[in-house]
Formats: sequence, structure tokens, C-alpha cells
Amino acid sequence: MDHLLEPRNMRTLRRAPATLSALLLALLPAHPLSAQSNPFDTEVRRLSQHPEVRRALDAIEARDDLTMADLRELTQIPAPSFQEEARGRRFLEKLRELGVDSAWVDTEGNVIGLRRGTGGGGRVAIAGHLDTVFPEGTDVMIRQHGDTLYAPGIGDDTRGLAAVLALLRAINAAGLRTESDILFIGNVGEEGLGDLRGVKHLFSPQGPDIDAFISIDGTGHEGITHQGLGSHRYRVTVRGPGGHSWGAFGLANPAHALGRSILFFQQAADTLTRSGPRTSYNVGMLGGGTSVNSVPFEAWAEVDMRSESPASLDRVDAALHAAVERAVREENALRRRGEPLTAEVAMIGDRPSGELPVETPIVARAVAVSQLLGIEPRLGRSSTDANIPIARGIPAITIGGGGAAGNAHSLNEWFLNDRGALGVQRALLILLAQAGVPPVS
Ligand SMILES: [Zn+2]
Repeated sequence: MDHLLEPRNMRTLRRAPATLSALLLALLPAHPLSAQSNPFDTEVRRLSQHPEVRRALDAIEARDDLTMADLRELTQIPAPSFQEEARGRRFLEKLRELGVDSAWVDTEGNVIGLRRGTGGGGRVAIAGHLDTVFPEGTDVMIRQHGDTLYAPGIGDDTRGLAAVLALLRAINAAGLRTESDILFIGNVGEEGLGDLRGVKHLFSPQGPDIDAFISIDGTGHEGITHQGLGSHRYRVTVRGPGGHSWGAFGLANPAHALGRSILFFQQAADTLTRSGPRTSYNVGMLGGGTSVNSVPFEAWAEVDMRSESPASLDRVDAALHAAVERAVREENALRRRGEPLTAEVAMIGDRPSGELPVETPIVARAVAVSQLLGIEPRLGRSSTDANIPIARGIPAITIGGGGAAGNAHSLNEWFLNDRGALGVQRALLILLAQAGVPPVS
């Protein structure tokens, strides 16, 4: 049985029995995992025996070509953060074509399809994010080399969207009923300055009352993110009177003050991040100035800080504010003429941190499902859409959508359909384990 535990062998094994469900059936009696202490092992194994669930698992395999067709089509519809409408419209059409009880676009732009359950199970959401980091005008046409597809955004997170559609397609094909309602979602604003605005809205009072949330982000089969990496992002802007660099020399200079504040920030943040919970800081973007021979009237920087610990994040946050305050005060003291500088430290991103214990049912179920499929789960922390529900103690995880990918966030991003269907089958079992499937009547 050992080779089963090495995912890369799944390809060869999967080729032996006709379908995954037949493999699961063949595996059942003697699988070593039964000895493990995960209380959800039995539940998940029973679930994988359920005839309708097996039909859905087979449908994912049989219709993998449609999953890939959705991936190709959606990848080639640009969707920069804050400009997700066009891709959202096509995703909405696909939800309706596949069949849901109702589908709509909420006031934030999230695209939602509701598939009603038999009742009494609450509401489980499965989501991929619509937006990519690539600005308007980026060429998102797919280039194929061998069996590898190259296109910006193909893995992050168009693969997630294609996986969400594949789940709906398979569940409908199998005629599966779940206890919980399931929401199939394409959400906005995961990337960059989108600042998780889509999921923040889903969990706001205007949201559709979600009890558990599964985000499919990126690719792969092993990852289970059950910890949210918190981050604060700021735009620091220093303003001054500005003027001619010779004629008005002696004016307080926003760029000098900004440079000074970055130095003071780094000096403080370096000490704060040398020990304790893992914490980072980064001045990612700089700008300002009108010409080399002008004292700027404005200079700005965008700063990212992240930490596994909210308290550490707050300390680095305070260090930034103190650094800017000191730098501007010192630059103003140095000026020889003109108005003093002013500074603004504006928050442009706030992603809460948090974590769910591995015993949390949704996490333990994801572990049990992975192990049932012979995949060694990799539990971890990351900054994803699940940060929002995790920070509120709502059951939530982020997993990959199967396949392999690389160069995320860069123009030569690629995707390879390496056991892509397996990733979707894993997502299906995790979703159904959380949503509940009535026993065979
Ligand atoms: Zn992503």
C-alpha cells in the first residue's frame, strides 16, 4: 500500500483502476489510515463510498476536458482588481448554464450561485477569486508549449474558478443532494489593493450568511491553509510647498523627509522582526517629484507589513507611524524658509490574521480527505480570502485547485494539468464532508 502515500505515484495508480472511486473502493478494507486518530477518517471514507459521491468523483475525471475549457476561456478574459465585471459576467452565465437554484451579483461585484440543500445544514461557500494582479492592457492570451499553458493569471486564480465550476458540474451530474446549501462563488478583490474587499462583503451584514468557507486559490493537491497571515498596508504621503531647487533652496523637502522616515522605520522594524513570531516589513513602491530641478510638493511610499502575530504586526505598525512623525519633525526643523511639511499615513490594506486549530472539523476533514487520497497534507499559514472568516472564528480553509503552476504574479505564469482532476476530486470530498450528504435511502 505504501506507494499510495507518495502522490506522484497516484498518476500510475490512477491509470490502473478505471476511476478514482473504483480506486477508493479497492483501497477501503486495508487502508493504513484507519488506524490514525483523525475522528473524521471514518466519515470521509463512508462519504467516498456513497454511490452519488462516487458518480460525482467519476464525473470530474470524465469531464476534465470541460474544466480545462473553462480555464482557457476565463483566463483570456482580463480581470484586474477593481475591474472584474467582464469575467464575472461570464462566470455568472456559466453558473446558470450548469444549473443553480438562483444566481446573482452582489453590490461588491461578487458572483454567487446558490444550490439549495435538503435543509438543517446551514450554508457552505466554495469560492475562487475573479481578480488577477495584472493591470488593464496586459496580454492574457494563452500560449501553449507542449502540454504547458502560459498566460498571466492562469494559475492564480483562474484555476480556482474553473475548479468551482467543475464541482458544480459534477454535483449536478451525479444528482447529489447535500444537507447544507452550497454557494458557488467567484469573488472580487483578493489581490493587492483589492484588500479582500469581496470576502469582507460576504461576511458583512449584507452577506449571504455563510457558516463555512472554502477558498480554492491556486493549484496543487497538498496545501491546507488554516491560518491567516495578517498584513497592514499603508500609503505614506509627505507634502510640502514645493518650488525651484535653486531659487527656493531651503524649503522643507518631502522626498528628503520620506527618505529619512524609511531609514527610521527600517532601524526600528529591523529590531522588532529579528526575534519572536515571524514578521516582515517592506517598502514596495515609491513616487513623487515633478522634475530634477524642483523641490517636490509631494513624495509617497507604499508599505507592506505582515506577521503571524497581531501584536507583532501592531508593533511594526506603530514603528512606521513613529518614524514618519520623527522624520517630518526633523526635516521641518532643518528647513530654512517656507511652510512646514505635512504627512499622511493612510491605510490601504488590512488583512486580519488568525488561526483555526487543526482539530477544527473543516481542517480535520481536509486532512482526512487528503490522506484518503494518498496525499500527505501540508498545513500552513498564508494570506488568502480565508483570512476574513478565520479571523472571526468561522470554519474556513484555503486549498489548491489541482494541477501544477509556477511564476504566479508574473507575465510568464504557467499551468500544467498534472493530475488536475485529483485536485478537484479532493475539493469535492472536502466540500461534501462539510456540507453533509444524506445517507442512501
Ligand atoms: Zn490568489
